[in-house]
Amino acid sequence: RSKEKGGNSYHYYHPEMNKRSLHRLSLEINLRKALERNEFQVYYQPFVDLLSGQIFGMEALIRWFHPEWGLVSPADFIPLAEETGLIIPIGNWVLKQACFQNKKWQDLGYPAQRVSVNISAIQFHQPQFVQIIEDTLEETGLDPKLLCLEITENVAMTNVPYIIETMQKLRSMGVFISIDDFGTGYSSFSYLKRFRVHTLKIDQSFIRDVTSDDENAAIVTALIAMASQLKIKSLAEGVETKEQLDFLMLKGCDEIQGFIFSKPIPANEFELLLKNNKQLSLL
Ligand code: C2E
Ligand code: MG
Ligand code: MG
Ligand code: MG
Repeated sequence: RSKEKGGNSYHYYHPEMNKRSLHRLSLEINLRKALERNEFQVYYQPFVDLLSGQIFGMEALIRWFHPEWGLVSPADFIPLAEETGLIIPIGNWVLKQACFQNKKWQDLGYPAQRVSVNISAIQFHQPQFVQIIEDTLEETGLDPKLLCLEITENVAMTNVPYIIETMQKLRSMGVFISIDDFGTGYSSFSYLKRFRVHTLKIDQSFIRDVTSDDENAAIVTALIAMASQLKIKSLAEGVETKEQLDFLMLKGCDEIQGFIFSKPIPANEFELLLKNNKQLSLL
């Protein structure tokens, strides 16, 4: 501590701060090596259609298995990957894995599934983003209709004309687009229409206590109704209980994702769900 220097430098030398910045530095150093060391894996979590109870797609979710630390949660490294720009190579890797894997399932004869890939704002705003998507589809041979890009509301914070143009290009290629974590960021209802997204993913923070909190119930009800009026599919994230499921079905929600059906699982386990044609009981 160097109190005598006064002002901000007191905080700068605070041992806690030091520990935190060391932790961050070590995380960054390890993150830089994780790709070449093959420490990442893609897990898949099914999306279920609430009319049929059947799987119609899945979200690709990255997992980092560090040799010493074990599993590191995306919540702990994605923000750092975004700050450092590492999200570009990491994101491209996830995209390619997800497309390859989905193509493989198609080739094995499973019913068509759409794979959803999370795209950070930094990735989306790269000038060559559309080209990267095109190249990946060509390289993997995946039908563009079987790819969905999940974009959060903060993608839309800047340069709206560019976003509309990019969305339009992606749509004309046949790629699907969903708005992730809807309601937690800079939500603009007019953008939903202007961006012409296919799916609105209602954030799990609203679903968690939807059956006990009247305000969240009202928000979820309104979002489902609005999506339906705009002819956008509604998908509820983080559905864990039968009570939540009943509420969502009553309100006319189209699709769900959550532990009530399956956690995110490795590709080989996901394939078993497809093989066994696992269904959600809607009774
Ligand atoms: P997200 O895109 O909103 O993904 C959904 C998260 O909800 C996942 O967390 C999933 O495991 C979790 N989840 C699903 N169902 C339930 C449930 O019933 N209960 C609970 N408690 N949680 C549920 P995960 O895999 O830890 O990922 C966290 C976030 O990290 C993601 O949120 C996404 O924003 C980011 N992320 C993950 N993979 C990638 C990636 O490849 N690229 C980018 N840019 N971000 C990613
Ligand atoms: Mg997502
Ligand atoms: Mg989400
Ligand atoms: Mg979320």
